[in-house]
Amino acid sequence: MENILDLSLDELKSWMELHNEKAFRAKQVNDWIYKGVFDFFDMKNIPKSTTEKLSDNFYIGIPKVIKRLDSKYGDTSKFLFEYNDGNVIECVIMKYDYGNSICVSTQIGCRMGCSFCASTIGGRIRDLTAGEILAEVLEAQKEIGERISNIVLMGSGEPLDNYDNVIKFIKLVNDKQGLNIGQRHITLSTCGIVPKIYDLIKEDFQITLAISLHAPNDNLRRKIMPVANKYSINEIITACNSYSEITKRRVTFEYSLVKDVNDSAENAKELSNLLKGMLCHVNIIPVNSVKETSYEKPSKNTIEDFSKILSRAGIENTVRKEMGSDINAACGQLRRNYLNQSDEKRC
Ligand code: SAH
Repeated sequence: MENILDLSLDELKSWMELHNEKAFRAKQVNDWIYKGVFDFFDMKNIPKSTTEKLSDNFYIGIPKVIKRLDSKYGDTSKFLFEYNDGNVIECVIMKYDYGNSICVSTQIGCRMGCSFCASTIGGRIRDLTAGEILAEVLEAQKEIGERISNIVLMGSGEPLDNYDNVIKFIKLVNDKQGLNIGQRHITLSTCGIVPKIYDLIKEDFQITLAISLHAPNDNLRRKIMPVANKYSINEIITACNSYSEITKRRVTFEYSLVKDVNDSAENAKELSNLLKGMLCHVNIIPVNSVKETSYEKPSKNTIEDFSKILSRAGIENTVRKEMGSDINAACGQLRRNYLNQSDEKRC
């Protein structure tokens, strides 16, 4: 049995034709799914013989909602989803003035090993397929009863470590006959797998590329991000310059600010020098402390000072507005807590 969400419209059309069905049935089936109808037999305009054929060959891979948390501030909802193999992922919806944005997970766990991140603690279990990532959007959209207009690939997992599935996912959500989410409304965040950034350039997308930089030099970066042993900051910056040259898109640099680790005035100055003249934006993220690590947020003053140093050097930056801190909205934390609880129950 195959997950029908893994198929593009064209692939489903070909399947229909191959199975002596009219190609237009593919669009009808997709329309139902995108409307939130996740059972073939509830699709009113599809003949029974067709739905029987579909259900013999496909399932609609929507995960089960095992937890939903709504922030008391009304701006964030977080979901724990369970796939049919029992694996659990999380995704977050953030409500902004410009629309609803979803932060999706791309892998179950992560193997990148960043020292401040909860997603990587148990390693990578497996990749999510394109359809499984799409299912996060479809189910979350149904849950909130509103359209999702923006996607950030910033949940658990490293998108460029699951390249083919992630690219297919972007094409699926971007499809005008599907969810029709504009490429400029999609952001892909990576810890900086350089060869894959060049592959991404070749896709000729208009998505925003975000780089998890978190340090202004390789020495410091290696201490907090193992991937820095493989690719240098210079290589990353060169790849980013190519990305913005070819796509004309501004690159975002994420900088998780950790008390006494990467938050000094010296660090801010070094970062400013590194990024001077680039078409970029720095997103300063005061670190969310994770139970398993000892990292803490810097003081409000330190955060403001860091931002001011960048601004004075002409580097555009924003301090990420904290949303959903009451519901463990940071990367991988809800899943981590859930797995910890299950472990405790097992003991
Ligand atoms: N693997 C991808 C995307 C997932 S992480 C990447 O590295 O970009 C999304 C962002 O959240 C990254 O910038 C990551 O470094 C950051 N992040 C992870 N854990 C965090 C924490 N505890 N506090 C603040 N930012 C965190």
